[in-house]
Amino acid sequence: MAQHQVNYASAAGLPIALTSVDKLVNWGRSNSLWPLTYGLACCAIEMMASGASRYDFDRMGTIFRASPRQADVMILAGTLSKKHSEFARRLYDQMTEPKWVISMGSCANTGGMFNTYATVQGVDRIIPVDIYLPGCAPRPETLQYALMMLQKKIRRESANMNNNTKQNLRLV
Ligand code: SF4
Repeated sequence: MAQHQVNYASAAGLPIALTSVDKLVNWGRSNSLWPLTYGLACCAIEMMASGASRYDFDRMGTIFRASPRQADVMILAGTLSKKHSEFARRLYDQMTEPKWVISMGSCANTGGMFNTYATVQGVDRIIPVDIYLPGCAPRPETLQYALMMLQKKIRRESANMNNNTKQNLRLV
């Protein structure tokens, strides 16, 4: 049966849904994204607003977690200093597979206006990024769109795909 195809059959009068394991696993994964609560600079204010009642990300199954052990999405929101990059990488390594990364805002994407010796010029130099979110700062609606794009991306992945075979996506 082709991947992502759902067929319905009937045995002894009982309807049976036939689907691929990939589709079932990815459906579960994409509807239960748990981002790590991890803000780096002013973009984090918009990320915090995203978790509040006006935007209500919980309804998408997106629930912020305070521990990397319980999170499968890292939202790098803001400016990453070189001094802090070691800790960002350590938190990423502590998250269990499968895991995904959203780079939120111009500073995280490219260093933004901080073209200095102290700022990482793009978080993808430290951590593999799945979604690049433009803006200074991106609004919660934009982060919501990024999460929806990530859901679509996960639904297209093979269930046993690892980080070395993933492709990233730029929302520009
Ligand atoms: Fe702050 Fe703008 Fe940089 Fe976000 S992109 S951390 S809002 S300066």
